[in-house]
Amino acid sequence: LKPAFTRNSRRECLARLQHETFDVLILGGGINGAGVARDLALRDPAMKIGLVEQRHFSSGTSGKNSQLIHGGLRYLKNLEIGLVRESLHERATLLEIAPHLVKPLRFLIPMYGWFPRFYYGSGLYLYDALAGGRNVGSHRGLSRSEALDLEPGLAREGLTSAAVFYDCLIHSARFVLENLFDAARAGAAIVNYCRAGEHKRLNGAYEVDLTDVLSGRRFVCRARKLIDATGPWSRAAGLRLVRGSHVILPRLTSGGHAIAYFEEGGRIIFVIPWGNGDLSLVGTTDVDHDASADDVSVSRTEVDYLMSIVRRLFPQSSGVEPVSAYSSLRPLLKSTDASPTKTSREHRIWESPGGVLHIAGGKYTTYRAMSEEAAGRLSTRACLTRHTPLGGNTPEALAEVPAELEEYGVLAKYVRQYSGENGLRSAKLAFAVEHEMVECLPDLLFISTYWGYETPQCIPAIGEELGRYLNWDRDRTAEEIRLSRRICALPE
Ligand SMILES: Cc1cc2nc3c(=O)[nH]c(=O)nc-3n(C[C@H](O)[C@H](O)[C@H](O)COP(=O)(O)OP(=O)(O)OC[C@H]3O[C@@H](n4cnc5c(N)ncnc54)[C@H](O)[C@@H]3O)c2cc1C
Repeated sequence: LKPAFTRNSRRECLARLQHETFDVLILGGGINGAGVARDLALRDPAMKIGLVEQRHFSSGTSGKNSQLIHGGLRYLKNLEIGLVRESLHERATLLEIAPHLVKPLRFLIPMYGWFPRFYYGSGLYLYDALAGGRNVGSHRGLSRSEALDLEPGLAREGLTSAAVFYDCLIHSARFVLENLFDAARAGAAIVNYCRAGEHKRLNGAYEVDLTDVLSGRRFVCRARKLIDATGPWSRAAGLRLVRGSHVILPRLTSGGHAIAYFEEGGRIIFVIPWGNGDLSLVGTTDVDHDASADDVSVSRTEVDYLMSIVRRLFPQSSGVEPVSAYSSLRPLLKSTDASPTKTSREHRIWESPGGVLHIAGGKYTTYRAMSEEAAGRLSTRACLTRHTPLGGNTPEALAEVPAELEEYGVLAKYVRQYSGENGLRSAKLAFAVEHEMVECLPDLLFISTYWGYETPQCIPAIGEELGRYLNWDRDRTAEEIRLSRRICALPE
């Protein structure tokens, strides 16, 4: 299997969007847009599919989440049994079709006091039961001393017991790219930095105003069907935007496991192994977001809240400070009385009076099932995504892939073809430019890789290297570095 994009792909696809009439035009290159594009392209190779993304692919919520493919233990508390069951089954499917990007992860739940022991203990039995024969691993109760053996840094006061259970970790930004690659290989025209504006319907087809954001050029694209997968940007009525933020810290845990901590408000805070194992990702918050979807950043209150939990859980972390942060928005379905934490993660797929198909709500974990449902509204052919390996990554094919390039799966051999002054880093940089439609420094730092979050101190050096590769002048390079630093910065 070859890389789906070359450096000419964006230009070629832009020309196609301008000159061809599409069966379907998908707006939004997050996981839902990418998932529907792949589903339709695999079902029906004759269908003409276009997809436009206003910034870089996965630069919205899909690349800035908790990076978990999970059943969602906490939704059991709201008795969202159907959602948890579906998520657990999708978890098993994604593990099978994308073993290079979805990895089993062990979680430790420390229990403080006696009530949680009973409460979460029974929840974990149900969690395992709902996964049925497709569980990742069964949960197990731990005594206080077993918990401290596993995680000696945990706060000891009030610790009564613990439990371990299993979910999965994913590189959520790269996973979106791989869905788009498969769709492109099957013939879809996929373009980043292309914003959809107004649309009108003429003679049974939509005419959509598109702007190539890089050149400023505007043109019209014709499509018989429009799918709105713009997530938090959707103008469809009935969405509630809830901000969730994460901080990245020097590693807090002593092993390769994550921590799931239930705080008093009913929120679950994860401490997740991150980077090369030298960092921890901590999140998330739940705050109603009243500003525009373009204006999302972590607040000082959110950082203080997350750090207060870190300090409480790991008393020896008093000198540890976050190195970076990110925030994104959940586009949840409105329910008037619920708190942000309790608002349901159920999804909805519906057609607006003008005939546009909207896909919203839900979780990253359930994107494949949501995509199947949305694509099923447009094609009666059989869905193939349940069993088709993402990017051709079967376990046999992966046996050839070196560990340091595992997340590239079978494309690793193309990454290795590139070289440069900084070894593997230069190779990944070149591959991102040549085959991942990287146009700007943040595309490389926060989507192709998470270098920007993991090593923000290296942003200037990577920016200089990318600038040399793309022949940017000094001003452009300096501006890209400034912008990238702002994206992952902590609030004043
Ligand atoms: C903090 C947080 C943590 C989460 N953690 C998890 C988790 O661990 N596991 C899990 O299963 N789920 C998680 N979720 C939920 C999950 O990430 C989202 O449900 C999912 O990513 C939504 O994907 P999407 O494609 O609908 O939206 P997005 O990823 O936001 O994609 C929408 C895209 O549309 C583009 N767009 C908008 N307007 C236009 C336009 N006019 N023209 C062209 N393009 C446009 C945007 O730029 C954007 O890229 C989390 C959510 C949040 C907020």
